[in-house]
Amino acid sequence: MENKTIITGHKSPDTDSICCALTYAYIKTQLGEDVIAGRAGEISKETQFVLDTFKMEPPTFFAKVDAGQKLILVDHNEKSQAVDGLDDADLKEIIDHHRLGGLSTAAPLYMRVEPVGCCSTIIYKLAKENGVSLPPAYAGLLFSAISSDTLYFKSPTTTDADRKAAGELAEIAGIKDPKGYALDMLQHGSAINSSTPKEIVHGDMKEFDFPQGKVTVAQVNVMDGEKAKAKWADLKKALQDMVDGGESDTSLLMVTDIMTEVTDLLWAGKNQDVLAKAFGTPEADGHFHLPGVLSRKKQIVPPLTNAFKG
Ligand code: MN
Ligand code: MN
Repeated sequence: MENKTIITGHKSPDTDSICCALTYAYIKTQLGEDVIAGRAGEISKETQFVLDTFKMEPPTFFAKVDAGQKLILVDHNEKSQAVDGLDDADLKEIIDHHRLGGLSTAAPLYMRVEPVGCCSTIIYKLAKENGVSLPPAYAGLLFSAISSDTLYFKSPTTTDADRKAAGELAEIAGIKDPKGYALDMLQHGSAINSSTPKEIVHGDMKEFDFPQGKVTVAQVNVMDGEKAKAKWADLKKALQDMVDGGESDTSLLMVTDIMTEVTDLLWAGKNQDVLAKAFGTPEADGHFHLPGVLSRKKQIVPPLTNAFKG
């Protein structure tokens, strides 16, 4: 990998991280740059469904990057979420749609951060700006990622730019029934029935370092929140196991019902007072019932960050 620049999304990669890496690598290659698409973790079931649909291979797995490795981060900018070895790597670019998480770099770099619902929307803009036309399969990847990150435009993070990009991409990809395809994909992504509690609390999970301790926030989307309640006890135990095992001080899991647009926030560990400050009065069993909450980035992390500031 001496000369190639690795393009990678975050650990516990979601569909956006994988599709951004693959498509941005395609764009860069078309522009004559020597890059390779990478990933910093396992492919999710939802992403596998997308790769199968568009007959694409997953990016190359990197557990760690070597010192001096040229690197481009997509769909994240926080060190705690990045591939191991970032500190000593040669960071060239960040393309992202999240808050800035305090990363500092040794050298100047190209940054493109926009408050849109999906990083793939930015990747699509970059293709257009650079005069690179996307083959149908790559357009399909980006359409899938936008549908995934925005929960098919239901998430409050969705912007007009995401809707516009998705409309154009579905056309290029030749997807005849965009909504039907998107819901089918989200159904495949729902780990609630196909994964163990331990896998669920580690699957789509982000870590945040606060002065009061390490906080992990995982999310699982479900199509039927009532049915999912049968799994709560096992999920809470898996969250407690994370705390007991020293993986986090406070571990949270958003069980998000996409259809009714409700999140039940299960959790284990310390900082109960901080959580109550962020999310109001808990239910009798200690979990937080949050109607209208779908987005970790927009509706969970900001109140959490504010509450931890005190
Ligand atoms: Mn992501
Ligand atoms: Mn994203």
